Amino acid sequence: MNIHEYQGKQIMRDFGVSVPNGYVAYTVDEAVEAAEKLGSSVTVVKAQIHAGGRGKAGGVKIAKNLDEVRTYADEILGSTLVTHQTGPEGKEVKRLLIEEGCDIQSEYYVGLVLDRATSRVTMMASEEGGTEIEEVASETPEKIFKEVIDPVTGLTPFQARRLAFNINIPKEAVGKAVKFMLGLYDVFVKKDCSVAEINPLVTTGDGDVLALDTKLNFDDNALFRQKDIMELRDLDEEDPKEVEASKYDLSYIALDGNIGCMVNGAGLAMATMDTIKHYSGDPANFLDVGGGATTEKVTEAFKIILSDDNVKGIFVNIFGGIMKCDVIAEGVVEATKQIGLTLPLVVRLEGTNVEDGKKILDESGLNITSADSMAEGAQKIVELVK
Ligand code: ADP
Ligand code: MG
Repeated sequence: MNIHEYQGKQIMRDFGVSVPNGYVAYTVDEAVEAAEKLGSSVTVVKAQIHAGGRGKAGGVKIAKNLDEVRTYADEILGSTLVTHQTGPEGKEVKRLLIEEGCDIQSEYYVGLVLDRATSRVTMMASEEGGTEIEEVASETPEKIFKEVIDPVTGLTPFQARRLAFNINIPKEAVGKAVKFMLGLYDVFVKKDCSVAEINPLVTTGDGDVLALDTKLNFDDNALFRQKDIMELRDLDEEDPKEVEASKYDLSYIALDGNIGCMVNGAGLAMATMDTIKHYSGDPANFLDVGGGATTEKVTEAFKIILSDDNVKGIFVNIFGGIMKCDVIAEGVVEATKQIGLTLPLVVRLEGTNVEDGKKILDESGLNITSADSMAEGAQKIVELVK
């Protein structure tokens, strides 16, 4: 789960990790009020969306007085920001962070991720802050330093100090940088983060070390014990189809193709998408209806797939293991009748009671094309949506 920058900064503040003062604002008046409260000589107006790259897209503006705060807030609120992380459709800005301007000396990068290769939390740091870290990683990988963290000891001051020296933090600021890194690690572990990225971390003219940007992502599987984090969820930032799907316990991810897929099991869903691609088709979604798909679930799944206007046909690819094929077939027929489906529908069933299932589909009188294998089904639906 993702949260906004201002929310991430509040969590950091609670853990004693340095961030600039700032307030969230939902309206232009609130933005000006916030700036008045801050009373700093320079104020930064920052768009709050669940995507980075806002600076380059015009979503971060430096205001020198309250009039400029008003102008920028008015300009950014309600606008649609297109950054390299939003996709071409962009994201509408509904909240702003009004923050104290910082006298930046240098910008650095500090991040924490779980490294799957070592199964350890790893801290990465670079003196190439402010730019995209992916670029640094591909062009000058020697400028990224890593510390693999032992879960028993946690990040040690020694490791933090080594990182600080490696990225050339000025000597007089190393102590504060170390404190920052240890605090960030504490947040990461205690709040069950999957990613904590500070880009940029800055040193200031008065010798401070603080996070100008904060990106925290959380492990969904740990949210049951992070109730305060769950409350920070912003449904406006999520795909409405994905939100709807999560209500029915369906794993759905919207994609940009035109073939809707309904599959049980994540592995089969991935294989189905690959097979469609192999036959030059484009999946419109990833959808795993799970092991216990009921008629209701199948119907909801159909509705969600169809709410995507790009969908020109549906491929149902189900393996009846725990679920029996005849039950699934009944679900498909029922759902198609309820919705009044007019798009081409290809169904491939395999597994327990497959013959009964096929019979139900054949005798339904509905316009359903059946297939005997995944490859055949994929070919047929690709052909039908052309
Ligand atoms: P994004 O990564 O989405 O572009 P950032 O929060 O990193 O957004 O902001 C982009 C740039 O704006 C930063 O690299 C920094 O140079 C500047 N900036 C952001 N916040 C402040 C601030 N409080 N004071 C001064 N400059 C800032
Ligand atoms: Mg940034």
